[in-house]
Amino acid sequence: MGTRLAGRGDPRRPPQAALALPLPGAERRGTPRLTPSDGRRELQGSCGAGGDPVAGRFRPCAMDPSTGRPVVGRFAPSPTGPLHLGSLVAAVGSYLLARRAGGRWLLRIEDLDEPRVVPGTTDDFLRTLEALGLDWDGEVVFQSRRLAAYEEALDRLLARANAYPCGCTRAEVARAASAPEAGDEGPVYPGTCRDGLPPSRAVRAVRVRVDDEPVAFEDGVAGPVARRLSTCAGDFVIKRADGPFAYQLAVVVDDGASGVTQVARGADLLASTPRQIHLQRLLGLPMPRYFHLPLVTGPAGTKLSKRENTVSLAAGRNLACDGGDLVLGALRFLGQTPPTELQGAPAPAVLAWARESFEPAWIPRGAGPFPSTP
Ligand SMILES: [Zn+2]
Repeated sequence: MGTRLAGRGDPRRPPQAALALPLPGAERRGTPRLTPSDGRRELQGSCGAGGDPVAGRFRPCAMDPSTGRPVVGRFAPSPTGPLHLGSLVAAVGSYLLARRAGGRWLLRIEDLDEPRVVPGTTDDFLRTLEALGLDWDGEVVFQSRRLAAYEEALDRLLARANAYPCGCTRAEVARAASAPEAGDEGPVYPGTCRDGLPPSRAVRAVRVRVDDEPVAFEDGVAGPVARRLSTCAGDFVIKRADGPFAYQLAVVVDDGASGVTQVARGADLLASTPRQIHLQRLLGLPMPRYFHLPLVTGPAGTKLSKRENTVSLAAGRNLACDGGDLVLGALRFLGQTPPTELQGAPAPAVLAWARESFEPAWIPRGAGPFPSTP
């Protein structure tokens, strides 16, 4: 296992996200990247509020001294297909970061992109998480039922001229951009409609204004990150005239409304984070702490087959039988060293150990294969 971890941290590996981030040196277990305030001792027992009347169970909440707010984590899958090993890692990682700190863990279904939603998937998610012992707090939030909140945020941004209507087609943006592939998600918007919609153009989207100041934050896994939105995205779309609200806006509004203080998710979303922080600032919302977890690859960087990758009751996984070993695999993937006696134990027993023992500082940065059962 030591060899595998060393391989995951090999600095010669390409970075997992196409970002101009400082490349980490070799990753080693026990290299602390977090402040001492991340420790459980500092977080315990300071909050008398909390509990969860909605779920009918009381869960005391701990305060995070770095934010001064109760610790709240979340898992936010999109119901576009069954859970896979990458989403299992995100679920286990976000769950344990929250629970280890004595916090709450929320579940949100990101079902805004209606044509891509696969019927029955949400139900499968919930049953799969339950079978694994990943117990969430409160009611499940569905983004498709929160359109009024997104609309309200959009109106505020428009009213303050933080956002503006844009009439450009995608092809026009690509043609006008100086370097069509330079942005995090395609061409950087050249600002055509910044000072007003050109005459006789219909509104195709609403964009949020960005500036030249770098957006900087400290990621709990990736370390310091800084991005200048004007050169990596430009004024970005938060709503298309004929489509759903953009992911970036919905996530920021939801995390703010739920009081989320820590966001743990796959490193493929690291490129989205500076845009989300920009929106938080414009909307007056506090910034959560971020943990971008390593991505799961197949052996030697290959793509996993659907069968290998699927973690789903509906797809025929017997989680009562192999759920514990799947969680053990996720823990090892996240740099943890669960005792060998837990091999073959049910998932809730593995999670009970991990709630007491999970060490965020041991999460490696580099992508790698999911550990097979020893
Ligand atoms: Zn435009």
